[in-house]
Formats: sequence, structure tokens, C-alpha cells
Amino acid sequence: MGTATPRMPVLFVGHGSPMNAIATNAYSLAWEELGKQLAKPKAVLCVSAHWLTDGTFVHVSEAPKTIHDFWGFPRELYEMHYHCPGAPGLAKEVQSLVAKANVKPDTDWGLDHGTWAVMRRFFPDADVPAFQMSIDYTKPPEFHYSIGKELAALRGKGVLIVGSGNIVHNLQVMHYDPSARPYDWAVEFDELTKQLITARDHRSLMEYEKFGKVASLAVPTPDHYWPLLYTVALQESGEPVSFPIEGITNASISMRTLVIGEVSAG
Ligand code: ZN
Repeated sequence: MGTATPRMPVLFVGHGSPMNAIATNAYSLAWEELGKQLAKPKAVLCVSAHWLTDGTFVHVSEAPKTIHDFWGFPRELYEMHYHCPGAPGLAKEVQSLVAKANVKPDTDWGLDHGTWAVMRRFFPDADVPAFQMSIDYTKPPEFHYSIGKELAALRGKGVLIVGSGNIVHNLQVMHYDPSARPYDWAVEFDELTKQLITARDHRSLMEYEKFGKVASLAVPTPDHYWPLLYTVALQESGEPVSFPIEGITNASISMRTLVIGEVSAG
């Protein structure tokens, strides 16, 4: 039998506003709590909604910079830097693991707020290397799902793979009050997605547009939804999924976070 190879869990994190990086609220506290439960990974590979490219890239620097990819927020947020190391060796492995795309090395990006806002809560000491893989915005949902699947071997090497986005993300109609009553369609799509994830109906998650009006309101553009496909693609058959964080903020942003596998595995 031998020793079972530990297999890291896979996460999808609903990241919401960049303010969650510095604000103390139910979500940032829940991220801190989740971070304490996680076995410390060898590295984090994040697929963030905020790195959209033509082609698929993986960031290869030794010291990824903190990217402040947002406008009109308090100075405190722009002054925040998260100095974790990169993981160029693992980035190379991503390039060789993925056959579906020619994953090219990148030295310009770094960590956008979809990654560092969450990482600083999970690993406040910045002692876990992190690197990002981009989302090829020219490709259909099936492509993103396939690439996700190809990353599976990293789980056995201590890499925590994190999709970072929001299942429901409509900034056009959001309310400034975080506690504003959620739109019915936001609740409906968030619940529907939860059911599909629980039922392991990945086909329907890819074909979300078939749900019509609720889907087009919840996912007006796919950038924040697609990271979910990388995460669910990594669910092995019979592997559990849990939802440690749920809720809709600002009426139209779902903060749902899911964990595939055991939180403390690895
Ligand atoms: Zn975002």
C-alpha cells in the first residue's frame, strides 16, 4: 500500500471588493479563519479573474510584484505590498503539464488583487510562494475547464490551486451599501450554481448561459466566473466539496467560497 500521497485541496474564493484586503468584515475574517485551517502549502497557484490575456501565461519571477489594479480606493490600499516569493520552478511545471495550450512564461505581471488580497489573509506572514496563471479571454468555457484538469498533478506536490473570482458579479447594478438586500436573480444564480457544484454537474456549470436571464444578470462578463471552472475541473470523483463562506454583498456580488477535498489535507 505505501504511504498515501497527500493531495492538497482546491479552492475557489469569492474575492469581492479590493477593500477586503484591508477592511475587517465577515468575509475577511472568514478568510483568516480558513487560512488557519489550511495545511501550509508548498506554493499557491492562483487563477485570478483579473489576469485576462490573449493566450495562456504563467508568471515566472522569483519575487512577484504587488499589482494595485483598481482605481479610486483609499491610499492605504495602494501602499499595501505583499512580499511573498514566486515559484518559477513550479511555473515551469505548469508549462509542461498543460497540453491544451502553449503556456508561455511571463515576467511582467505579478500578483493582482484577486490573489494578494486573499493571500494576505490566508498567509499573513507572506511565507508561502505564490504565482499566477492567466485566463485566455479568447477561449470558451470548455477550454478553461480542460486546462484546470491538466493541473491535477500539482495537488500531489503540495500546491494549493485557487480560483479567485465571484460566481455572481454585476458591478453595473451593485449597491454601495454592502448589506443591501440581494437581488432575487443574484440569490437564484448563486443557489443554482451551488446545486450544480454539489451535484458535480460540471457540464451545466460550463453551459451556464443556458439558464437565460438570471445567468446574464449574474455573469454579464465571464471574467469572474471562469476561475470557478478551473477549480471544479480538479474535483476527483467522489471527492467532497464544502462551502465555508457564503453570502451576497452589495446586492449583486456573491462571496461564495468552496473547498474541494479536505481543508487541512496536504
Ligand atoms: Zn475582482
